[in-house]
Amino acid sequence: MLIIPDFPDILIEQVNVSDEITLTVHTTSPTASCPSCGTESSRIQSRYIRTLRDLPCAGRPISLIMHVRRFFCKKSTCAQKIFAERLPTLCQPHAQRTQRLQEALHQLGLRVGGQAGADVGSELGISGSRDTILRLVRRWKQPAKSEPRVIGLDDWARKRRLRYGTLICDLERSQPIDLLPDRSVETVSAWLEKHPSIDVVSRDGSSEYASAIKKGAPQARQVSDRWHLVKNLAACVSVQLAQSLGKLRRAEQATARSEKQEEGQASEERRPAQTRAVQHAQLARQAERTARYEHIVALQTQGVTSAEIARQLGVTQRTIQRWIATETIPYSRPRRQRPRLIDPYKTSLLERWHQGCRKGAQLERELRAKGYKGSGRAMYRYLQTLEPIGFSIRKRGSASAMSQPNPLLALSTQQATWLFFRRPEDLKAEEQETLRQLRQASPHLETAYQLVKEFLHMVRERTGEQLDTWLKAVKASHLEAFQTFVTGVQKDRDAVLAGLTLPWSNGPLEGHVNRLKLIKRSMYGRAEFDLLKLRVLHQSKKNQDRKNKYKHNQGQQVGRLKKLRRMKNGTNFQHTIPGISEVA
Ligand SMILES: [Zn+2]
Repeated sequence: MLIIPDFPDILIEQVNVSDEITLTVHTTSPTASCPSCGTESSRIQSRYIRTLRDLPCAGRPISLIMHVRRFFCKKSTCAQKIFAERLPTLCQPHAQRTQRLQEALHQLGLRVGGQAGADVGSELGISGSRDTILRLVRRWKQPAKSEPRVIGLDDWARKRRLRYGTLICDLERSQPIDLLPDRSVETVSAWLEKHPSIDVVSRDGSSEYASAIKKGAPQARQVSDRWHLVKNLAACVSVQLAQSLGKLRRAEQATARSEKQEEGQASEERRPAQTRAVQHAQLARQAERTARYEHIVALQTQGVTSAEIARQLGVTQRTIQRWIATETIPYSRPRRQRPRLIDPYKTSLLERWHQGCRKGAQLERELRAKGYKGSGRAMYRYLQTLEPIGFSIRKRGSASAMSQPNPLLALSTQQATWLFFRRPEDLKAEEQETLRQLRQASPHLETAYQLVKEFLHMVRERTGEQLDTWLKAVKASHLEAFQTFVTGVQKDRDAVLAGLTLPWSNGPLEGHVNRLKLIKRSMYGRAEFDLLKLRVLHQSKKNQDRKNKYKHNQGQQVGRLKKLRRMKNGTNFQHTIPGISEVA
C-alpha cells in the first residue's frame, strides 16, 4: 500500500488519478459494534457515502469516497436502534478529514499558528482553513506530567507595563509546565496549592511572588534568582558610578575653565579652527547643562516640587528626579558630524589651497565644474577652517595636552557599570586600563568595586555563607548607593541565601520567556491566552525530546571520555559543572 496505509477492514475498489486522486473504498468486516452498548451486529439497515480528505500524495490531494453501512442494534433495550459503523483507525465520527490529515494541520497550527499554518498548508496541499486549524489546536489535551518538585516563576508581559502573566517552569526538566494569565497573589497561590509536591521555588525579587509562595506553598523553600540579584546590584552601583563620574566631570570642567582663563586669547589661536569651534560648542553645552543643574538644585532647596521644576524646564519629572539622584546632568559627547556634500571635494580644495589659490569665486567655479552640488557658504565655511592650519602646525606641542582628554570623561555610566561587572579576564587590555583608572579615581569607587567583586564571587561560586560578612562590609563602607540593595537583601534574606547556595536559578526560564514572546508576536498581538498557552506548552515537549537526545549523546561521550582517562591515568575523572556564565 503506497498511497494510503493498510487500514484493516478497508478495501480500495477504484483509483481515479487526475489533478486530484480519488479513492473509492468500502469496509469489509461482516459485523460492527454498537457505539452505545457495544453489541456486535451484522444486520445492515442501509448504506451511505461519506467523503474524506486525506494527506496529499506526490503533490496531489487525495480524497476518499467511502461506502459506509448502517446497522440495527441487536439489543432490544439499547436506546440506539440504528448506528453507523465506526472506523477509529481512519477517522473520527463526523470528521471530514482523516486522522493523519488532522494531525498534520494540528502540528502546523501549534508550530506556526492559525493563519500561517493555513498558508503553509495550502502550499503543501494540506488543506484547512485558519479556523479549522485553531479548532484542532484547541482540542489538544496536554499529556499528564509527573508532579514537579523544583519550579521557577517568572513574569512575561501580556501588555507591556499594563498586564503581566506568569510562566511556570519545571527546573529539573527545564520545561514550561503552565502559563498563568496574571501574576497576582491569588492566581499564583491557587496554582501552587494544587501542586503540593513542590519543594523549591525560584523567583525574582518581587514581593508578590514571595507572598504567593508563602500562601500557596508554605512548605517550599524560596530561592531568589541570582540574575535578578545581580541586576538589582548593578542598578545601585550605576547610581554610585554616575555620582562619581559626575563629580569627576565637574572638576574637569572647572580646571578647563581656569586653564582657559590663564592661557587667554593666545592659546586659542594655536588650535586648529575646527577643533576650536567644536570645543566651544561642547563647552557651551556643558556650561548650559551645569547652569541648568544648579538652577534645579536652587529651586529644590526653595522647596519647589520636582513636578513644578519639570514643568518650568519643559522636561519630564522622571528626568528631573534622575538628575537630582545622580547629582549631574548627563555628559553629552561631541555630536557626530553628518556627512556633508563638501566632503568628497575637500582633498582637491586643499590641494588648490596649497597651490596658493585663495580666490573663493574661482574655487567655487572649479568645484562646480567637478560636480559639487552644495552651497557656496558651505565651501567658504570649509575654507575658513583651513586658514589657521599654519599656526597649529608650528605650535603643535602646546595643543597635545588638550588632544588627550581623560578617558573617564567619555565613559557613560552604563559602560562603567559593565566594566565593574564583567569578569576581569574577559576585559580587553584598554578596558582593563580604563577600569584601573576608574578605581583610582576615588576611594569610593575602589570600595564599590571590591564589594561588587565579592558579591559576584558569591554568585558564581555559590558561597552564600559569606553573605553576612559581605553585608557587614557594605555597612562599614558607608556607601549610600548600596543601601537600597542591602535593604532588599535583608528583607528577603533566606531566599537570597538559598539563591547564593542552591544550584537552582531562573536561567532556563529566560529562554522560555523569549520563546513565548516570539510566539506571541508571531500571532500579531491577536494571541488569545488559551492558544498562546497551548503553543508555548506544546513546543517545549518536542524541544525537550531533542534536548534529552542531545543530553543523552553528550552523556555517552562524557562516559566514554571518563573511561578513556581512567584507562590512561588510572585515576577517576571528575566532571565539573561550569558556574553561571556571563552575568548582568
Ligand atoms: Zn446498542
